[in-house]
Amino acid sequence: MSQSVIIFDTTLRDGLQSPHIKPVSHTDRVAFGLLLNDMGIDVIEAGFAIASKLDFNTIATLAQKGLDSTVCSLARSNEQDIDAAGKALQGARRSRIHTFISTSPLHMEHKLRMLPEDVLDASIKAVKHAAKYTDDVQFSLEDFTRTEHDFAKRVIEAVIDAGASTVNLPDTVGYSTPDEMSELIDIAMAVPNADKAVFSMHCHNDLGLAVANSLSGALAGARQIECTINGLGERAGNAAMEELVMAMRTRNNRYPFTNNIKTEKFMEASNFIAEKTGLHVQKNKAIVGKNAFAHESGIHQNGMSKNRNTYEIMTPESVGQNEGLTLGVTSGREGLRKKAENMGFNLDKDQLARLYDLFMVEAANGRVSDRDIGIMIENLI
Ligand code: MN
Repeated sequence: MSQSVIIFDTTLRDGLQSPHIKPVSHTDRVAFGLLLNDMGIDVIEAGFAIASKLDFNTIATLAQKGLDSTVCSLARSNEQDIDAAGKALQGARRSRIHTFISTSPLHMEHKLRMLPEDVLDASIKAVKHAAKYTDDVQFSLEDFTRTEHDFAKRVIEAVIDAGASTVNLPDTVGYSTPDEMSELIDIAMAVPNADKAVFSMHCHNDLGLAVANSLSGALAGARQIECTINGLGERAGNAAMEELVMAMRTRNNRYPFTNNIKTEKFMEASNFIAEKTGLHVQKNKAIVGKNAFAHESGIHQNGMSKNRNTYEIMTPESVGQNEGLTLGVTSGREGLRKKAENMGFNLDKDQLARLYDLFMVEAANGRVSDRDIGIMIENLI
């Protein structure tokens, strides 16, 4: 039976921490948050309230919009951070405070300069403080995948007891592998109070394994996945939402999870964030790349014109990829109408009927390119 997995988007927080991107304005951040809400995203991490005025204001504006999505702010494990997050989230229909601290020996010693016992203590205090603002508190063990197992389990059990309803287990440096991730989630979920929290994945793509690691974690029992549109994020980025969600949908027999995402909006979200950040996706990027559904070789085109299933495991329409798509005989009148509309032509019934006749003659010889369709339309009107 399919189980539901919570989709947690962190494009506005982790994504916008990417190096070498254009600054994204408050207006654009809010517009993107509204788009995520329309897409059916469960949780939107809108920023890191204490980090900047821009982050604070983005969270605060989205909190006032009455969204269906939960609005979330990041906060380190200290009172000032958590107070800023709580303040920014005021008025939200659903709000979450996401507090975190590093738990790996490397981070505790060299970054935090804290003893493990003090880290444990700070974690518990942070969760309890956050719980004064909302009953939806998420705790992350930063650098979880390089954390000693026994210490990880102590922290996890303690933060759940303190009131954390979500425990996030990040692969902060993108170091883990799918088989290891499965083992690590098993270990983490062996705490006695595991049933009182949702376990969450947050994978980075340094080894190109972010999506695979996230899915592996879900198979092991994690019920939330953190991700970004286009896989935007620090260094090699985060797990790409469009890849995760389409893998779960297309291979539901292997990843039996459901979610609420309106996948037809992926292209719109991808184009929006690419344009605003200036970080464009590669043409052969899975799902949202320009070539992701393009068939060039004659053998493929021949197969596709007979039956799209020959070379297509999902439809371009299902992810909102209508623009680069070339049409064939099976596309039908509706496909043609949509295509014309995407190209900027609003055809009346008579024009569409004439176009369809012209198109069917061409399509009998194989798939018809956008350029050909454009020429046909221009000859019509
Ligand atoms: Mn991250």
